[in-house]
Amino acid sequence: MSTVAEIFQTMEYGPAPESDKEALSWLGKRERVFGHYIGGAWTEPGQLFDVINPATSKTIARVTEGSTADVNAAVAAARRALPAWKGLAPHARARFLYALARGVQKHSRLLAVLESLDNGKSIRETRDIDIPLVARHFYHHAGWAQLLDSEFAGYEAIGVVGQIIPWNFPLLMLAWKIAPALAAGNTIILKPAEFTPLTALCFAEIAHEIGIPAGVINIVNGHGETGAAIVEHPDVDKIAFTGSTEVGRIIRRATAGSGKKLSLELGGKSPFIVYDDADLDSVVEGVVDAIWFNQGQVCCAGSRLLVQEGVAERLVTKLRARMERLRVGSPLDKAVDMGAIVAPVQLERIRGLVQQGVSEGASMWQPSWACPAEGCFYPPTLFTDVQPSSTIAQVEIFGPVLVTMTFRTPEESVALANNTPYGLAASIWTESINLALDIAPKIKAGVVWVNSTNLFDAAAGFGGYRESGFGREGGREGMWEYVKRVESRHSKAELLARRAATIEEEATAKEAAAKEAAAKEAAATRPPTHLPSTLHPPPSTLPSSALPAIDRTPKLFIGGKQARPDQGYTRRIVSPSGVLVGEAPEGNRKDIRNAVEAAQAAAKGWGRATGHNRGQILYYIAENFSARAQDFAERIDAMTECGTRRAKQEVEASISRLFTYGAWADKYDGAVHSVPIRGVAIAMNEPIGVIGITCPDEHPLLGMLSLVAPAIATGNTTIVIPSHAFPLAATDFYSVLETSDVPAGVVNIVTGDKDTLAKVLAEHDDVEAVWYFGARDGVRMTELASASNMKRTWATWHERDWLDAKDGEGREFLRAATQVKNVWVPYGE
Ligand code: NDP
Repeated sequence: MSTVAEIFQTMEYGPAPESDKEALSWLGKRERVFGHYIGGAWTEPGQLFDVINPATSKTIARVTEGSTADVNAAVAAARRALPAWKGLAPHARARFLYALARGVQKHSRLLAVLESLDNGKSIRETRDIDIPLVARHFYHHAGWAQLLDSEFAGYEAIGVVGQIIPWNFPLLMLAWKIAPALAAGNTIILKPAEFTPLTALCFAEIAHEIGIPAGVINIVNGHGETGAAIVEHPDVDKIAFTGSTEVGRIIRRATAGSGKKLSLELGGKSPFIVYDDADLDSVVEGVVDAIWFNQGQVCCAGSRLLVQEGVAERLVTKLRARMERLRVGSPLDKAVDMGAIVAPVQLERIRGLVQQGVSEGASMWQPSWACPAEGCFYPPTLFTDVQPSSTIAQVEIFGPVLVTMTFRTPEESVALANNTPYGLAASIWTESINLALDIAPKIKAGVVWVNSTNLFDAAAGFGGYRESGFGREGGREGMWEYVKRVESRHSKAELLARRAATIEEEATAKEAAAKEAAAKEAAATRPPTHLPSTLHPPPSTLPSSALPAIDRTPKLFIGGKQARPDQGYTRRIVSPSGVLVGEAPEGNRKDIRNAVEAAQAAAKGWGRATGHNRGQILYYIAENFSARAQDFAERIDAMTECGTRRAKQEVEASISRLFTYGAWADKYDGAVHSVPIRGVAIAMNEPIGVIGITCPDEHPLLGMLSLVAPAIATGNTTIVIPSHAFPLAATDFYSVLETSDVPAGVVNIVTGDKDTLAKVLAEHDDVEAVWYFGARDGVRMTELASASNMKRTWATWHERDWLDAKDGEGREFLRAATQVKNVWVPYGE
């Protein structure tokens, strides 16, 4: 062994191993064999699978494979525990979460070492990043539990939630899932990844020790099939998943039409963009954190280095020098930069993709030193001469492999950055804050780090755009994923009763009006008691009823123009009593495609319009609409036979709704999160893009405007399929849009067979979200079809009282129309 004096002479690194004694003793006391944690107790071990230390390839424990019966038992335990846990005072839940945070801190070193043994990540990372962040999540969410009633008034826990997590941040992903779920009052079944179950089991013990009530947290281990059993269980109310986009897609399809709420945090191919004025030495350290942190097994890893041409060569030289000095080795050595890859199968996947990169013509470079021969190790790897369309530039490698491409202008950097189906994160490196804040909104990503990378905190939401999934984890944004509106407000029975009451009122009003008219008529036929001084002559013109009505041909409305349907068919629109009210064009797949193209073309400009501008247009629509209120009321009455009073009520409510979103357009602010850095994390509410909206049949005009107005107020463009039965109010409405300065393509209206058209929308890859209000079969179809490009969906078969502002407008609609981008901007010299 070197002496201290020698080390001072050579300044060489020496190993600084962390002891694994406590962790091995913890495993030993349990004979290294584990059952599941269900209903507050450990089950007997069943069929076991091996848990391997990837740094040594040795088995360190054996864990029970979860069967369907285990999943059933866990769901039943969670269901039993739900009423009491949900009913607990928020303060009591806050205390439990606080105790969990403390428990994690008390056992922090055990958890850190166990995590390194199980996953292969370096102790430096588990000790200084993973475990402290786990504790931070529980502290932060203890706060949300405390504030639940005031900050989420009108909302409640969803129920029993199934959570499935990956192997790359085993305990941290558990905390991201469990903390908000518990804070909101849900009960949980969590499945850790098969490669890395140990810290979850240790956590279950901590939870048990602090007295989390039985059944509130259940941990069931196993492979993909166990996960699938949780996803498919009919008594689970929500699924939260982190993992590959491929499995995310399977889960989207498996839950379609089930009514289960879903949040998905999926893969990424995040850009790391370097402009020519960036501080290149900082950039190099940033790259180390971006792609060699956790051996690159990070969903938001900065795996695509995009460099402005003028500095590319210099940066690559600096990077190679830095890579030459990185240290790969035993995860328990505090001096290593990179530990082991999680498992042989992952190592093989990385090798295979690197090989493919080479065979596709890219130049591969690795440092001169060799990795340890035993265990799953892979060296940091750099590719240059990479084509943007090549496999290694498009596919998530999930390993320490960086691909480099160059660009000339900021516009080109944005195009290159957005050139994958993913949208999880991005890093922007420049000394110009103007440039950074100009680029950040243009990147399709849920998180953007300026001159930094891989910053996480419990107070800031994390999650993706596009095929990187939907929903956020962390902060207020993340809490929304674990609550639902309190349902009792309008049960179906209540709604029907209210409708019946209004119909009755209407009938009474009609009866009174008829009596009044009859009385007037009787008075008119009675001889006058005295004659007026002058008599008016009868009108000489013909009554207008003697002339044939001028034909009104409703059309589709696409790209700001009235358009005839592609197939040249129309559909007769008949009132409930059988009166022909008009004919609506029958749109088809081609009309939808044209509408999507128009919406896409309008999206960029409309998305960047100011809130004030969008608000003005919404008010202007309301103004022009109001001038024709009588026409619309008559049309609604003719179509639905709801009676003039109710038709007028619908029109008035529609005008008010447009005002509501005119008001919101410049008020749906984001937030600045209080994160523990010297800087800010700005949460911006961004439009989703192109939204396909299939409208409800109830209140054909109000239902449509209640959805279109929040969508366009927040900067989206829309393709609207109006009420199937009563589409004519919508086709009348385009004349209002035409006179209200709505830019072409912002609202496109296609009438026709509701579900046929909705399916085309849901399958279309240039549509970014679909909303469907209708029957359950349609909901299922929409959710199934949406999986093609992992669109955001808002699909429901539950009726709403559109006339009631509490039910028919507000933040719930605005949240559905937006996605949050968190932009982290550290500052200081
Ligand atoms: P998966 O997406 O397959 O696994 C994530 C979790 O889902 C695991 O707990 C897994 O169980 C479970 N699971 C697998 N299949 C199903 C299913 N049909 N229904 C429900 N749950 C299921 O990721 P992998 O571990 O297989 O990794 C493959 C690739 O995915 C990686 O190379 C990487 O590219 C990407 N990945 C991305 C992550 C991210 O955070 N974005 C995280 C992990 C992986 P089990 O582990 O037992 O198979």
